[in-house]
Amino acid sequence: MTRTVYVNGEYLPETEAKVSIFDRGFLFADAVYEVTSILDGKLIDFEGHAVRLERSLKELDMASPCSKDELLEIHQKLVELNDINEGLIYLQVSRGSDGDRDFVFPSADTKPTLVLFTQNKPGLADSDASRKGAKVISIEDIRWGRRDIKTVQLLYPSMGKMMAKAAGADDAWMIEDGHVTEGTSNNAYFVKDGTIVTRPLSNDILHGITRKAVLRMAEEAQMKIEERLFTIDEAKEADEAFTTSASAFVMPVVEIDGQQLGDGTPGPIAKRLREIYLEESRAAAI
Ligand code: PMP
Repeated sequence: MTRTVYVNGEYLPETEAKVSIFDRGFLFADAVYEVTSILDGKLIDFEGHAVRLERSLKELDMASPCSKDELLEIHQKLVELNDINEGLIYLQVSRGSDGDRDFVFPSADTKPTLVLFTQNKPGLADSDASRKGAKVISIEDIRWGRRDIKTVQLLYPSMGKMMAKAAGADDAWMIEDGHVTEGTSNNAYFVKDGTIVTRPLSNDILHGITRKAVLRMAEEAQMKIEERLFTIDEAKEADEAFTTSASAFVMPVVEIDGQQLGDGTPGPIAKRLREIYLEESRAAAI
């Protein structure tokens, strides 16, 4: 089935959608994005993603393409047009184009480019991958210093996934100055003696929307949380580990750099948090 996508005010078949070759997203990675998951045909934590989008745009001095209400309407319409029950919806906003290539930002009245598209993913919530758990490797974090802004500069995370694949693993956790920053497309956690440990928010990591929700739910479930820097060796010696992201929710990690965690199966805290997250998120979806 041909997808219907959204480009600058129009709903079009994906084969007919176009953006300029001078678009700054293409030429300079001058663009930000969001990914929202869809369960039961509804958006999970749209509000969180909309707020983070506004922040990313503001940090880069980029104009908002439209209001939050309009964005919600576009999301919901695209989910409906593509008949998505479980899947993802991507939103990309670039600084647009003034018809040429120049490092200098185009004039402030240049219209941003707004693109949205869906991915149909039946079985996203009840996935084999989450039942098995993920194997991760560690790699150096050589990304830029504003990882809190959700830009489309995804080349290094993409290379990290390829390094993981080449090593027979599923993903990579990145390390800077001896401490784990985050996964290529998720936030990283380990659990030791019942305490959940994760890196505190700063410019060094993306402020995960799923991270925020999961930490709140863990706190409500009386789990102990420590937000602090941690090493990969600590994580390797942990009882269990997991990642969070809008596209994979809570994903248990069962192996780090070839070292098995616990009995090599998803840990109880990761499994419980996944259940709670899915249940509460479905109930609040719009
Ligand atoms: N860190 C990075 C580098 C990511 O790409 C993502 C996913 N976009 C996350 C963390 C998780 O963020 P969220 O929970 O908002 O999907």
